[in-house]
Order: sequence, then C-alpha cells, then structure tokens
Amino acid sequence: MSNIVAIVGRPNVGKSTLFNRLTESRNAIVEEMSGVTRDRIYGKGDWVGYEYSVIDTGGYVKGSDDVFESEIRKQVELAIDEANVIVFVVDVTTGITDLDNKVAKMLRMTNKKVFIAANKVDNTSRVGMSSEFWSLGVGDVYDIAATNGSGTGELLDDMVKEF
Ligand code: GDP
Ligand code: MG
Repeated sequence: MSNIVAIVGRPNVGKSTLFNRLTESRNAIVEEMSGVTRDRIYGKGDWVGYEYSVIDTGGYVKGSDDVFESEIRKQVELAIDEANVIVFVVDVTTGITDLDNKVAKMLRMTNKKVFIAANKVDNTSRVGMSSEFWSLGVGDVYDIAATNGSGTGELLDDMVKEF
C-alpha cells in the first residue's frame, strides 16, 4: 500500500480526533506500536474507492506542557519520510503559534504534498478565521471540524487526487 497519509501538528490541535474521522469508514485496525515507535498510531481508511493508511503522529502527547520541540521535530521528520501526503493540523481558536511556524518551516523543505487542516471550525462564526494559515506557505487550507466531520469530505476529495 502506497497511499500513506501522515497527520502532523503540535499538541491539542485535534490530530487524534481527525485520525478517528479518517479511519471511521473501516473498522480500523489500529495498533499502538511498542518500543521506539510507541508514539505512532496506524490505521486504515477509504474514500471513494481509494484505500489509504493513516499515521497519527505524536500519539504519546497528552498535554501541551511536557512537549519538547525536538520530539515534534522528530515526528515531522518521520512523517515526511514515510508518507505520500501530509495533513498539517492547526487550530483556528489559537491561530498561528510559534510551534506551528516551526512545523511549517520543516514542511516547506519537503516536496511531499501538504494539506493544512484548519481545525475547530465548529460553526459559521468561525468561518474565515483560517485565512491566516495560508501565510504559512506550505499548502492549501481546508476548514474542518474533526469532532463532527464537517469539511473532511472536501479534504479527502483533494487528498485522494494525490494517490
Ligand atoms: P491532538 O493532541 O492533536 O491529538 O488533539 P486531540 O485530537 O487529542 O484533541 C485535542 C482537543 O481538541 C480535544 O479536547 C478535542 O476534543 C478537541 N477537538 C478536536 N477537534 C475539535 C473540533 O473540531 N472542534 C472543537 N471545538 N474541539 C476539537
Ligand atoms: Mg493526539
């Protein structure tokens, strides 16, 4: 299988929630790897006839305080290595943070296809809040709400074009 999607981003933006969305079409065979890869979760999904694997990076990260930039850096490097398509999740309720800028800087150096998922666009009052993420310069911005699935169809439609 060569359709591999990696979800990257700083803690609490909604990576794991999006992972669950992207794998819900399947009874996802989700493994939490042991040892050095314990922090990565793998699942499977499909969309309009395309099957793909999804990697949720930073699975070990439970909060934001105990996260070191170097650990996120390592996750992004692994994602760039393993995936064909990268989904960079950001949070419209916080806007661009320092860590977002650092992740973006790494992603600008890859020629892998990157989609920016501007998450937590839960209601119409939040539409338009994602425009600043275009300035990260890594890819097109998709408004989504991972908790209810809104916008994820449009993201998937464009993702599968890269498969
Ligand atoms: P991760 O650390 O990036 O994996 O983020 P999680 O998926 O664990 O989500 C972090 C928090 O954001 C949780 O409390 C989620 O319920 C919340 N969250 C995720 N997606 C959304 C969303 O679309 N809207 C809102 N309001 N909260 C969300
Ligand atoms: Mg997570």
